[in-house]
Amino acid sequence: MGPTDQYRRLSFWHDTVPGTLVPGQALHADADADVAIVGAGFTGLWTAYYLSRADPGLRIIVCEREIAGFGASGRNGGWCSALFPASLAKLERMAGRDAAIAMYRAMQETVDEIGKVTADEGIDCHWAKGGTIEFARSAAQLRRAIQEVEEARTFGFGEDDLRLLTASQAREIASATDVLGGTYTPHCAAIHPARLARGLADVVRRQGVSIFERTPVQQIHPGRLVTAAGTVRARYVIRATEGYTAALPGLRRSVAPVYSLVIATAPLSDAAWEQIGLAGRPTFGDLRNLIIYGQRTADGRMVFGGRGAPYHLGSAVRPSFDRVPAVFAALRSTLADLFPALGDVKVTHAWGGPIGVPRDWCASAGLDRSTGLGWAGGYVGDGVATTNLAGRTLADLVTGSDSQITRLPWVGHRSPSWEAEPLRWLGMNAGLQVMNWADKQETRTGRASRAAGFMSRFLGS
Ligand SMILES: Cc1cc2nc3c(=O)[nH]c(=O)nc-3n(C[C@H](O)[C@H](O)[C@H](O)COP(=O)(O)OP(=O)(O)OC[C@H]3O[C@@H](n4cnc5c(N)ncnc54)[C@H](O)[C@@H]3O)c2cc1C
Repeated sequence: MGPTDQYRRLSFWHDTVPGTLVPGQALHADADADVAIVGAGFTGLWTAYYLSRADPGLRIIVCEREIAGFGASGRNGGWCSALFPASLAKLERMAGRDAAIAMYRAMQETVDEIGKVTADEGIDCHWAKGGTIEFARSAAQLRRAIQEVEEARTFGFGEDDLRLLTASQAREIASATDVLGGTYTPHCAAIHPARLARGLADVVRRQGVSIFERTPVQQIHPGRLVTAAGTVRARYVIRATEGYTAALPGLRRSVAPVYSLVIATAPLSDAAWEQIGLAGRPTFGDLRNLIIYGQRTADGRMVFGGRGAPYHLGSAVRPSFDRVPAVFAALRSTLADLFPALGDVKVTHAWGGPIGVPRDWCASAGLDRSTGLGWAGGYVGDGVATTNLAGRTLADLVTGSDSQITRLPWVGHRSPSWEAEPLRWLGMNAGLQVMNWADKQETRTGRASRAAGFMSRFLGS
């Protein structure tokens, strides 16, 4: 198996992205830069993009262990959404009401910023801004829908941001089963994530940024990053390693990698789509505790994912953890349960990857001016758009621009460390089990599970 084949097998998106996946040049000697970035996912690439636009004279080096778009950025569910992992209420507790609202508005603007940049730069990432529908398929889920809309209203977000749907309004968008209602937000686009990641890497290279692939960084220090092939010296060193962060020295308890798994079906017939709906390609899920997410792809498939795969002791990340047959089977049956019109359509691809979960479930971006060390991450499952805001923020922090976005409440936020093992392993996996059990209970009884509420408070989500 050649290196191209190896990366094509990562996901449906890698399998269908145009262009080569043969790794580009690796670092082979010491180098000097103004800014050195670890990781060529969306965080690293957006940071390089905005930095090189702000100051084309900056020498920027990105070191990537595999290839650009190898990690979560190339293999996610393709929801480019305004979702932020910390709720409005939590952000209000952290930084006040205005700051919470500003954060959520900035996320909405970020979705449009990505749409604009991809159009301007000619990155064809199959952009379709059809919003998101979340179905309520039990009484407990309907109550959750009502509460979400009530919370949005309390913070001044109106019908144009999030609205409650009746069962028939929800069914007009898509004919899912057991629908009692739902919510709809226009602030989401469905995308082909590997097209965005690889396209962005090409744009960034054209802007003069050096991306060294197959270049694992072993240590990060103020003013330098160390690889087996050489040391990169730079005034600023940015960590953009998300779900892989725990493997770096000194960062074992910072961001826990939790696996999210995905399947893709063969293209559906026009008749099946006629029955299912999702015209305009809104992304979809339902309001269960253990998250599920789906999109109708540009070539007429269903891509459908969810959590539920185990967390691994010591925050371990391995290629073999990307594939859990029992979770793929559960995803297949949940999808068929949602949309019986899928019939026995073939699942052509199944994959997964780690998301980065901070102890308090709140993403952050920041730069320590005294050391020159910067970071962004902890997006949980909401990083596709948030990474763009991170990139713009880090670029402003590095160049010293006093912009609105550098005052958002996640900037400079430090999440507490995770518990030492085996407590982390016990807590994480107990949490996943409880959420799964709670969803079954809620479907059976219609009542919201107290256990799920407790677990989500315990985990800080
Ligand atoms: C299956 C799945 C589905 C998801 N679905 C969605 C979704 O629909 N919507 C959404 O908003 N978010 C989703 N997410 C989350 C989202 O994809 C991520 O939050 C986002 O892509 C993170 O981008 P990143 O650049 O920070 O990290 P990554 O894309 O993971 O990039 C980190 C990069 O760093 C490299 N790296 C790590 N360590 C080193 C090292 N030591 N040296 C050099 N390089 C290193 C890795 O190889 C990797 O390429 C999903 C994630 C997964 C896994």
